[in-house]
Amino acid sequence: MWSGNQPSLPPDLPPSFPPGFAPSNPPSTAPSFVPGLPPNPPPSLPNWPPPDPRHLATRHRPFRAAYVFAIVLPLLLIALLAAPLGIALALRPAGQTATGGSRTGPTDGQPGVGDPYYPDAGSSGYDATKYQIAVDWDPVTETMTATTTISARALQPLSSFYFDLALQTDQVSVNGKDAAFEKRGFADVRVVPAKPIPADSDFDVVVHYSGAPGKITRGDVRAWWSSGKEWVVAGEPESAAWWFPSDDHPSDPALMDISVRVPTGLQVVSVGRLESKDTGQEAAFDTWHWVSRQPMATYLAFVAIGKYQLVEGVADQRPFVYAVSMQLSAADRAKALGQLEKSVTTVRVLEQMFGPYPFSELGGVVPANRFWFSGLETQTRPVYDPDSILNDRYAPILIAHELTHMWFGDNVTLRQWNDIFDNEAYASWAQWGFTERTGGDRANVALNRTYERTKNDAAFWQITMIDPGRSQLFSTVYTRGPMALQALRNVIGDEAFFSLARDWGQHPGSRSLEEWMAAAQTETTIDLGPFFQAWIFAPVAPARTAENGFRD
Ligand SMILES: [Zn+2]
Repeated sequence: MWSGNQPSLPPDLPPSFPPGFAPSNPPSTAPSFVPGLPPNPPPSLPNWPPPDPRHLATRHRPFRAAYVFAIVLPLLLIALLAAPLGIALALRPAGQTATGGSRTGPTDGQPGVGDPYYPDAGSSGYDATKYQIAVDWDPVTETMTATTTISARALQPLSSFYFDLALQTDQVSVNGKDAAFEKRGFADVRVVPAKPIPADSDFDVVVHYSGAPGKITRGDVRAWWSSGKEWVVAGEPESAAWWFPSDDHPSDPALMDISVRVPTGLQVVSVGRLESKDTGQEAAFDTWHWVSRQPMATYLAFVAIGKYQLVEGVADQRPFVYAVSMQLSAADRAKALGQLEKSVTTVRVLEQMFGPYPFSELGGVVPANRFWFSGLETQTRPVYDPDSILNDRYAPILIAHELTHMWFGDNVTLRQWNDIFDNEAYASWAQWGFTERTGGDRANVALNRTYERTKNDAAFWQITMIDPGRSQLFSTVYTRGPMALQALRNVIGDEAFFSLARDWGQHPGSRSLEEWMAAAQTETTIDLGPFFQAWIFAPVAPARTAENGFRD
């Protein structure tokens, strides 16, 4: 996502704080730490333990082997040492697998995966593998009736489990048998199947549900946008609960199969490949069917319903679909489509830096609705704010930002929301990298300019990358993140910097900022501990030194 909805600003200025994004809970101050390091910071350090170089691989090794040395072995060692002593480890929660229960008897899944900023996001005890979503949309009453089948694998024996859905749940069945259910809080629905689900078994949950998503807000947060003629569900960090039941956390990506039935004359745009524009063969209704070939995080799925101009084709052996709202003027539609069509050449530039584009489809959609974000990296098909995409100067870097997320954020998803650096640092640095590769300023010029502008802003540097806090999740990472990456590039050199980016972005999975730092260390013999202390952990501006990656 990028919320820098300020077309007059040069690309390296920080985005505004997203209007409308006001988390209802105070930011978490719970610290996290590097796996393998002691959990308690030395008392003399005001903030954080830096990554201890003694625990990080310092010889250059292939990525996989280094990962084992830097992450897996220390964790195994700690587990082996701690288990007999019954020591409860205060490790930073690692998503689903860390919250599983005993395998000796059925246990209750929990209404969250342990995310420090969003404790009720997602559900523990299972791994969702596919969502089959069938929505019937009534544009007159602005309500949906829908059925979603969640295919999942139990990570523990489950006597009960949760899914996330803010709409009204009408009926639930598990493996074909009716199940009891109860909604708790904003979107946690507890399900008690007729009989417990064995560990390691696949199971299906069919959920019938209904409601008016436009009426759902959580504090000031909403994910459903309506103009009365056009409807879009899109948002970060939450949007799925507005339209389908899920394990709503980025650590559990799954395949998406999305069908939306609308009155004939409306179009439906979503993620992945357009399989059919009318599977129902009804005179008065069309059912649009979209399918993703690769798993995606729940917030990366979206649906846009309305009257759209669709442009379909194939470029670089990759099917694309661009869609622009018919509510825009003919001139604006043509201009917006012209910008979207740059996605193909933009991807070619990004591939030079990050390796092959990770997905089998490409595209973009420009609704008429004005969003609080300029763009959102919905998988294979970002959603763009119309004012942003119609700005000639702004649009190319916005497209580069959102398409970079296909590697960083989409192919590799966040382990927890406090890992947001992994996504936004790369997407924001790519604006500089793209500019550099297309004849503009070198990225180092942008680093120096941005540093000079921010170096005396104590409040800006107070927000760290290791723990920005929930209320500042989408703020300084767009500025501090790309500065940190360009400084890293200056320290370790282009070969190591782009090798790291490709190794990271090309391997699908859900990973943390600590894992990224460990991966970076494997690319160089230089001890990156002090560098990460300065850029990732410290609540003050890094000194302008060569060790911190500054070059004239
Ligand atoms: Zn972004």
